[in-house]
Amino acid sequence: MDWRVRFVDYPEQWRRQRAELLPLIEDTLAAGDLMLRHQLLEFENNLAAFNTSRRAVGVSNCTDGLRLLAHALDVGPGDEVLTVAHTFVATISPFVLRGAKPVFADIGPDHLMDIDDLAAKITSRTRVIIPVHLNGRTVDMPTVMHLAGEAGATVIEDAAQALGATLDGQTAGTFGLASTYSFYPAKLLGAFGDGGAVLTDDEPLADRLLHLRDHGRVAKAEIDGWGYNCRLDNLQAAVLDWRLARLPQWIERRRELARRYDEQLGDVPDLELPVGPNADGRRYDVFQNYPVTTDARDRLVEHLRADGIETLISWPVPLHRQKGLGLEHWKLPHTERLCDRVLSLPLHPELADDQIDIVAGSIRRFFGAG
Ligand SMILES: *Cc1c(COP(=O)(O)O)cnc(C)c1O
Repeated sequence: MDWRVRFVDYPEQWRRQRAELLPLIEDTLAAGDLMLRHQLLEFENNLAAFNTSRRAVGVSNCTDGLRLLAHALDVGPGDEVLTVAHTFVATISPFVLRGAKPVFADIGPDHLMDIDDLAAKITSRTRVIIPVHLNGRTVDMPTVMHLAGEAGATVIEDAAQALGATLDGQTAGTFGLASTYSFYPAKLLGAFGDGGAVLTDDEPLADRLLHLRDHGRVAKAEIDGWGYNCRLDNLQAAVLDWRLARLPQWIERRRELARRYDEQLGDVPDLELPVGPNADGRRYDVFQNYPVTTDARDRLVEHLRADGIETLISWPVPLHRQKGLGLEHWKLPHTERLCDRVLSLPLHPELADDQIDIVAGSIRRFFGAG
């Protein structure tokens, strides 16, 4: 399909970055810096500083970051892990695979964890609470931390979609014990494949994760326990470090494009927009996605496709409605309703203003809004 507006535009991204990235890749390969070299250390240091965290541990992907944390915390049978069903399955799978029971809070109007429902779902067995900063917007973390403190639960933030977001001036991912990030190509900070990181202020935990990601090795020939192979490739780290330096301007561009959608779609009846970049003085949202909601979602997707506009539904089926997961006893009315109505519009830093206008114009025609 020849899209007029792609959901993510990797070819355009490469066209813009090629001249600077090729020499960097060449240098890294020419030096033979392939595993656990200075490029990875530099990226980890810069990433921690960017997020105002003490430590960053590069890992193979966000899911593996959660897996190493589940191992380090020794989560297992008898433990409940509390999160939302409106998230990617990876938020919870590493914990369930260790024998923990998944528990779901419903979501609120901003698509994030509903704090009242979270409070209602906490039990004496709640071991870990995983708020998900979906679409680049930070969950109400002060309240989550308060509830977790009362319950004696550990908080791990799934910040795969929220690198650089803040709430009340504090960076997402710095509230809980640790936070996990994804460098999947379509994420805010993307690699040329899979990548991820765990951020934390807890030095012993960070050291433990460094060992766990590398077969339990504390030195070349010394092993301090069973471990995994979950390293972040050095070449990916070199590319990610270069991109991290440019991330603030790319986030600003995302926010600018979100404002443009807001301006052009704000008066369309029967279409709800996400909370805008300037609507909430407490937050700096980084707009991993621009999700709209409408009862006519499926017809709108077809209409946009016919106009050459690529969209994404995250996610059409909530986790507790996935037949293969055996979670169908859960009832989460707001989550279920959102999954029937939500649609993410194209939003990435390579988009031109007039591409936003094309998308907005097509949506206005669909709704007969002129
Ligand atoms: C992308 C994503 C993940 C998984 O990240 P991977 O790097 O692909 O393992 C987890 N949680 C959320 C919310 C995500 O968006």
